[in-house]
Amino acid sequence: MSAQDLSPQPDADLLVAGAGAAGLFGALVAAHHGASVLLLERDLDGPSNLLVSGGLFPGAGTRFQRDAGITDSPELFAQDVTTKADGKVDAPVLVAIAAQTAPTVHFLADTLGLPIKLLGELVAPGHAVARMHGTPKESGRELHQMLRAAARAHPRITLMADTEVTALIAQGSPARVTGLHVREARSTRALHAPAVLLATGGFASNAELLAEYIPDMKRALHIGAGANDGCAIVWARSLGADVAFMPGYQGQGHVNPPAGRTRLGMALPPKGAFMVNREGRRFISEDIGPSELAAYVLAQPGGVALEVFDARIHEFASRQGPYREACEAGHVKSADTPEALARLFGVPEAAFTATFAAFRQAASEGRDPEQGRKQFGPPLESPLYGAWVTGALAHTQGGLRVDACARVLRTDASVIEGLYAAGGAAASISGTGGAGYLPGNGLGQSFGLAMLAGQHLIGSLTGKRA
Ligand SMILES: Cc1cc2nc3c(=O)[nH]c(=O)nc-3n(C[C@H](O)[C@H](O)[C@H](O)COP(=O)(O)OP(=O)(O)OC[C@H]3O[C@@H](n4cnc5c(N)ncnc54)[C@H](O)[C@@H]3O)c2cc1C
Repeated sequence: MSAQDLSPQPDADLLVAGAGAAGLFGALVAAHHGASVLLLERDLDGPSNLLVSGGLFPGAGTRFQRDAGITDSPELFAQDVTTKADGKVDAPVLVAIAAQTAPTVHFLADTLGLPIKLLGELVAPGHAVARMHGTPKESGRELHQMLRAAARAHPRITLMADTEVTALIAQGSPARVTGLHVREARSTRALHAPAVLLATGGFASNAELLAEYIPDMKRALHIGAGANDGCAIVWARSLGADVAFMPGYQGQGHVNPPAGRTRLGMALPPKGAFMVNREGRRFISEDIGPSELAAYVLAQPGGVALEVFDARIHEFASRQGPYREACEAGHVKSADTPEALARLFGVPEAAFTATFAAFRQAASEGRDPEQGRKQFGPPLESPLYGAWVTGALAHTQGGLRVDACARVLRTDASVIEGLYAAGGAAASISGTGGAGYLPGNGLGQSFGLAMLAGQHLIGSLTGKRA
């Protein structure tokens, strides 16, 4: 620690490392309640996971749901999360996050004035009711633009571009975090504040951490954006921080091969799409959820599957940004008959048509003896649509252990004063593998913990100023 670190003049009330989902939201919450914020972003023009995400987030008990006649509650949401994660959750943290999902939606819509809507026709896999919310184009790109614009416009937020956070500054014993070291275009400097929010994303690009915690996915295509180098974990561990749920990850089983730049999104199976492998055979109950689906698709010949749907589903999915991008990239093709679709994609015609007929019957009867699927749309009608998909690693879900106020904890469960974490930097609510991820957990946790951090910070600042 350098001498200049010992007598810091605060540069702001809060330093936020990373201007993605958690950082933007945390900065906006804290600033809204009166805090001055320096929001530090290494690569302002580069994509974040927020930008490449589907941009859909959960809200349990929102006014949009009430208007649509949907009964929901934080308790029901927490139950869905717990079931999906097979009980492997930090219950107090989950309860705190669940309680913030509706206030998050209302903060975005009513305080920030964003055009938020409920996707009332989509019950995402694993959710008891329709509770995914988003912006009009249902895209992370649009949500990212809107949050960035709100942060730039806020008088108490200074968004510092091309500012890479390189280390934490801490003082005392036990250590209390008092600032950050940053690298700008031509210089380095120290910034000081009573609190720091780590929002630099997960560790999906950190080969060492992946090999240690998620060896099954260390060679999988990574479709997340930004650095995701696990820097927050490394910095905080040097102060004795604990980590939790490190093997948890968000997979994606609807990614278009080979480059994985586009994907179909999670909405197709709940509406009635099914999948076959290169041999024309089904291999899974397609409604299990997009995250765990990734491993099943990767296990098929060539690591790919053909996702099959119809014009009704195509029309529904076309509302969503990721699906539109997949269409624009030429991955989605259509044919008038099952036979023609099989020929178009080079799948054995006889096997595919037999599978198609059996799946249609399963959908008509609402029972699937072959794969045990439970959620069906209406039976598919020609013309049919299809696209190849593969499995990929989207985002890691393990990270720094936090309490129900998003404060980072040491291995002895004591709080590291002055240090908060949210988003990929913090442990999520998705259990210990790909199967524990409930759609929406990524942004739900990012916004929820960022909200809790902002509220706790304001409480402690008010206490000090009083
Ligand atoms: C393909 C894909 C689809 C997804 N779809 C959904 C979805 O529909 N719904 C959902 O809930 N979740 C979804 N997620 C997950 C969601 O995007 C993440 O959970 C969320 O974005 C995590 O937020 P974050 O702030 O931790 O990271 P990010 O949003 O990635 O932001 C991190 C920011 O920190 C910056 N940064 C990193 N290191 C530094 C540093 N040292 N100094 C300064 N800045 C730094 C990065 O440049 C980046 O801007 C998806 C993820 C992926 C990859």
